[in-house]
Amino acid sequence: MFRKFIFTLIFFFILSQQTYAKIDIVYPTSKDVKVKSASLFFIGNTDYGSVFSINSESVQLWEDNFFVHVVPLQYGRNEIKMVSYHHGEVETLTYYVTRLKTSPAAASYSYSSYTYLPSLQKTKTVKSNATVREKPSVSSSRIIDLPEGVVLYLSAKKGDFYKIAEYGETEYWIHKSNISTPQSIEVKEQPVLSGKYVSSDDKYDYVTFNLSYPVFYTLKQNGNSVDLTLYGVQADSANNYRYTFSTDRTIIGYDAYYQGNNLVFRIAKIPDNFDEKNPLKGITVFVDPGHGGEEKGSVGPSRVPEKDINLYISRYLTEYLKRAGAIVIMSRNDDRKVPLYDRVKMAKNNNAIISLSIHSNALPNGYDPYENHGTEVHYYNENAKQLADIIKNNLVYDVHLKDNGVRKSSFALNRSTNPVSVLVEVAYMINPQEYILLKSPEFQENVAKSIKKSLEQYIFVIKK
Ligand SMILES: [Zn+2]
Repeated sequence: MFRKFIFTLIFFFILSQQTYAKIDIVYPTSKDVKVKSASLFFIGNTDYGSVFSINSESVQLWEDNFFVHVVPLQYGRNEIKMVSYHHGEVETLTYYVTRLKTSPAAASYSYSSYTYLPSLQKTKTVKSNATVREKPSVSSSRIIDLPEGVVLYLSAKKGDFYKIAEYGETEYWIHKSNISTPQSIEVKEQPVLSGKYVSSDDKYDYVTFNLSYPVFYTLKQNGNSVDLTLYGVQADSANNYRYTFSTDRTIIGYDAYYQGNNLVFRIAKIPDNFDEKNPLKGITVFVDPGHGGEEKGSVGPSRVPEKDINLYISRYLTEYLKRAGAIVIMSRNDDRKVPLYDRVKMAKNNNAIISLSIHSNALPNGYDPYENHGTEVHYYNENAKQLADIIKNNLVYDVHLKDNGVRKSSFALNRSTNPVSVLVEVAYMINPQEYILLKSPEFQENVAKSIKKSLEQYIFVIKK
């Protein structure tokens, strides 16, 4: 009884605080912003039944009274005046957006002029994902993420990057944060490959290489084969040793790791007990709802966060996959923060065959959410391209989303070669029609159904 009284009090308190025709701007997040773009989208909501305008231009209100409006910008300071009118109540809100002059395009970065080190230097990787790149720049292509403890010899330096002393035409660069302090050495200790042996279990084929210390290696897929190169290991007449794994089947997950001085190269197998009617039976799938906890992801115009939508779709997906006989591991099944590389590890440690990261998209400043929207699927490695194509094509067909293509991009959750990893950007949080769809349980369920169908088709294809 007393509780009821308190609730009533709180209710009237909230009511008395509310001004009608309130304007809630979700983006931009500050009233005074500086941008370089020629336009800026304003995203937010106002009260039910209001008439809303931005700079005297009347703005469409969608379901839940949200709006998405693109404002063109002049150079310098732009005053953006928003007015919401509701039965005689008027709320006004003013934002200032400064459009900065864009500086001329930076001179293209020259990679050619690096400095040779006075003598050969020796170092070791100190991270479990020490990235080796093609060029001395964080934006350059990744060649491989090495595990901790790999011995590297360095020959040159450019900025914060060291060049790995090598080995033919390709350059290999590593950022100093990935390695221990380099030590000058007189001569390189020649690594020795003393043997290799082949083994297998129900999940992987393995080839183990016995080395005198952990050497630099790369993995490269070419269609139905994967090349493992061990650098500086003299075998036969070549300085580098190459091992090629070939199969007449589709290459799915593969990776390599050190056990002491032994390098284990493994190639995932599809479970043998294949059931044509239930292709997902016994297949382990990792489902990763993007973001969570304090990491909201993007936020829609009526303040529904992306992390919630990703989770709802992922729950439906998990349910459908389990019904089809798959073993499903979720990175989270509630609203919590899970670090990116913990997610990647979880997928690997559970020997998942497929990893799916589920996201909903947004745009940077200067884009028009009415023009730029649709579904897109991101992959990074060759072994995930086919799965990305199947998922994207089915989503376009099944839930009638605009085809925004399959894209090669580098995210923590699609960069691993094991499992086969894709990241799905289902639709855009800031396109009005797509935001309405994303919030709808029926749509979330249909997306899940479509992705489950894609996985069945994929397993069917790779089983042949
Ligand atoms: Zn996201």
